[in-house]
Amino acid sequence: MRFTYVTIFSNLIEGYFQDSILKRGIESGKFSVGYLNPRDFSTSKHHKVDDTAAGGGAGMVMTPQPLFDTLKTLDDDAHIIFVAPVGKQFTQNDAKRLATKSHVVFVSGRYEGIDERVVERFGDEVFSIGDYVLTGGELPSLVMTDAIVRNIDGVLGNSESLEYESFETPLLEAPSFGKPPAYENMRVPSEYLKGNHSKIRALKSSLSECKTKYFRPEQLQKHKIRTSYEK
Ligand code: SAM
Repeated sequence: MRFTYVTIFSNLIEGYFQDSILKRGIESGKFSVGYLNPRDFSTSKHHKVDDTAAGGGAGMVMTPQPLFDTLKTLDDDAHIIFVAPVGKQFTQNDAKRLATKSHVVFVSGRYEGIDERVVERFGDEVFSIGDYVLTGGELPSLVMTDAIVRNIDGVLGNSESLEYESFETPLLEAPSFGKPPAYENMRVPSEYLKGNHSKIRALKSSLSECKTKYFRPEQLQKHKIRTSYEK
């Protein structure tokens, strides 16, 4: 699988691939990354990519020409994603679905965003990572990349680690504990330590429900509807 980042600040993205699981994923050939800078395609004298907004208003907008010329260089297999606060909320299901694509392209906005004609012409999808506004699309592109590559076969060491994670089902993951069994007078639930796997599973399942009820009650509702259908 291949990722291309269309950004005027590729240095903000590159560092994230220089360590840990994503670095290993690239080294083992599970996926590759590349960058396109719209400035390199700008026909203006000073390689400008922005201009004032039509109709007035504060701030600058990324203009069509540099982005049109950048995106026209992509092959037909490119699945082009614009990241924007107005997009659809990105979810774990999107991460799984996009992990099956051969080439995903993320287009990062800056300033007040991107001229809508670019999105209309080239966008396969538009995603937001949450209801807040960041200064640019580089972090959202990385957030989505990280969530996607974890779903590519062989990127995570232990394939089971995906199975019980939050959002694999509507329930959130049960609390995790490591060693030692007691730390500063706080104990790991004793059932976790007794080695009876069916009891551990039962406890984790009820803790999972408690956690979901507290943090994401709407997810618990989904879980209840799903289990009532399965009965
Ligand atoms: N004027 C835009 C608005 O109100 O929707 C915000 C533009 S923001 C300052 C600049 C760029 O950051 C956007 O074009 C987008 O690429 C990125 N961005 C900011 N917040 C984002 C979010 N929550 N999800 C995805 N991308 C975001």
